[in-house]
Amino acid sequence: MKHMQMVCGCCGEQHHGLGQPSRRSIMKAGFAAAGVLSAAAILPHRAFAQTMLTPDSALQALMDGNKRFVQSQLNSCNDDLTILKQNTVDKQEPFAAVLSCADSRVPVELVFDQSIGHLFVTRVAGNLATSEIIASLEYGAAVLGTSVILVLGHSGCGAVKAAMAGKPVPGQISDLFAPIRPAVDEGKGNLEETIKDNAQIQAHLLATASPLLAGLIKDGKLKVVAGYYALDTGEVTLLS
Ligand SMILES: [Zn+2]
Repeated sequence: MKHMQMVCGCCGEQHHGLGQPSRRSIMKAGFAAAGVLSAAAILPHRAFAQTMLTPDSALQALMDGNKRFVQSQLNSCNDDLTILKQNTVDKQEPFAAVLSCADSRVPVELVFDQSIGHLFVTRVAGNLATSEIIASLEYGAAVLGTSVILVLGHSGCGAVKAAMAGKPVPGQISDLFAPIRPAVDEGKGNLEETIKDNAQIQAHLLATASPLLAGLIKDGKLKVVAGYYALDTGEVTLLS
C-alpha cells in the first residue's frame, strides 16, 4: 500500500499516513487507557498548539490543506467532532483567518481541510474589508492570535460581476459596488482580473487601514495575503 505522508493542517507535523493508526483510534485508545483523565488531558496537540505557528507556517498549513482538498484526500474528516466540540467550548485558538466572499460555492473550512476551532472566518459578498470585517479580523489576530489573514476572491464572483455591470439592483445590494469600484477600474472589463485585483486591494486595505493589524505585521506576528479560488478545480492560488 502506498504510504502517504501528510502534514497536519495545524501543527505542520507529518502524520496521519496510511498504515498508521487514525487519530480517532489513538484517542479512543487514549481514553481507554487514561480512565478518569479529562478529554483535554489526552487530546491531540492540534487544538492547543495552533497559535504557535509563524505567519509563514500558518500560510503553508492553509495551502497544504487546500492541496489535500484538491486531491480529495481530506484529513479533517478523521477528526472526532465530539471531542473537538468539547475542547473548544471555553476557548478557541484558530491559526488562520480568512476573509471570503459569502458565495455558497466557497466552503472555506472544506477548501482548507480544517475543522472546528481552526479557522477564524469572516464572510461578506465580494470579500470586502468593511469596518465590521476589519474589527472582526482585528479580534482574530490581536486576541485569538491568528498569524495569517487570507483574503480569498473566487472565480465567477457575482458581487464583482454586478459591480462591473453597474446596473440597478434591488434593495441595498448596490452598497457592495463602491468598495469594488477601484478593482473595476483596474480590471478594465476583465472579470478574472477584476476579482484578483479586488482581493489584493482588500488585503492591502486590511494591512494599512488598521493600525492594530499594521503593528502586528510590523512585529512579524501577522501576514495578510490575497488568494484566488478556482470554482472548477478547488485550487487556491496566492496572488502577489
Ligand atoms: Zn463572490
